[in-house]
Amino acid sequence: MSSQLVDRFIKYVKINTRSDESSTTVPSTQSQIDFSKMLMEDLKEIGLSEIEFNEKNGFVTASLEANTDKDVPTVGFIAHIDTADFNAENIQPQFHENYDGQKIVLNEEKSIVLSPEDFPNMKNYVGQTLITTDGNTLLGSDDKSGIVEIIGAVEYLLNHPEIEHGKVRIAFGPDEEIGTGADLFDTDHFAADFAYTVDGGPVGELEYESFNAASADLFIQGKNVHPGTAKDTMVNALKLAVELDTMLPQEEVPEKTDGRDGFYHLLGIEGTVEEAKMGYIIRDHSRELFEEKKQKLTSIVEELNKRFDQKRITLTLKDQYYNMREIIEKDMRSVEIADEAMRNLDIEPDVKPIRGGTDGSKISFMGLPTPNLFAGGENFHGRYEFVAVESMEKAMDVIIEIIKLTHTK
Ligand SMILES: [Zn+2]
Repeated sequence: MSSQLVDRFIKYVKINTRSDESSTTVPSTQSQIDFSKMLMEDLKEIGLSEIEFNEKNGFVTASLEANTDKDVPTVGFIAHIDTADFNAENIQPQFHENYDGQKIVLNEEKSIVLSPEDFPNMKNYVGQTLITTDGNTLLGSDDKSGIVEIIGAVEYLLNHPEIEHGKVRIAFGPDEEIGTGADLFDTDHFAADFAYTVDGGPVGELEYESFNAASADLFIQGKNVHPGTAKDTMVNALKLAVELDTMLPQEEVPEKTDGRDGFYHLLGIEGTVEEAKMGYIIRDHSRELFEEKKQKLTSIVEELNKRFDQKRITLTLKDQYYNMREIIEKDMRSVEIADEAMRNLDIEPDVKPIRGGTDGSKISFMGLPTPNLFAGGENFHGRYEFVAVESMEKAMDVIIEIIKLTHTK
């Protein structure tokens, strides 16, 4: 077992770096700043240069200097330090060596079991060393795996100066899980030609297509009068909200779509007869269909508003991120090199559109093509999260291979 990688992983996951959606600071939690400062010490210790913490965006960046005179592209690797909205206090990673393919009791006392019946993906790990939770927390493999794989890769190259490589930039940032971390990323300062987020799932994942994403918030002004004398006067805001939802395409919801099919996802309705609020997220891989979906909702609101002598429904649409494919397609080097790197290591690349977004969705639109590489973890964001040591080793190897291949381009 590659103990350096695993030791670092255990050290990092035990530190609570949960982000907080309700916070207004950057990063959203002090614990992420503390973690970043500790990371900087580790990066210094292994011998990286240009180690910096950016107070404005919360990113730690560092460089592995080129050891060649050849003019080669600068490649970047990015991972996030925060963990998802789930208990991250007192994480106690559990090792299961030579996994036998059977269920794993995570917590005897609370009868929490990680079972292949619920998670058939476990069957892919027979004979490997799994790291799981103790059932009380998430694991934080998302994305501490990515962090240790990147550090492990550059450390390996520092220890093997005979391997020629160009400059490598690395960045560890906050608040990916609350969707804001990459907003202030500084691509000029990062100064890479292309980059990768190392934040994907199982071995082989290579993603350069994400959703286009928008939020839609609706405010509905009703008119409340005594129900006994309400005829032709009352406007029930809640009923309007329900009606509006039924006017949307009923098949275009998350629970009925997959692959490249987009959706409207109703997140909440709350209110009274007098006023109501509702919130949606809108998602589609196709920019055209994405724009159509927003237009559809806008038209429905206009149609409903026509019924009244005043505007009763107010719609606020906000674009959140776009499909990175639009940008990456213009410079496919990052994807081609990652594909080749995996094949060189006998890993079959698994390229598929992400039904979500990554930090790379935003960073790509800032001008830095940034597809997503597997980090190895499974069952993210909850107590059933696990990662195989072998997967982390493979991800580290892929990063090293990408750096080597970039040198030949
Ligand atoms: Zn992640």
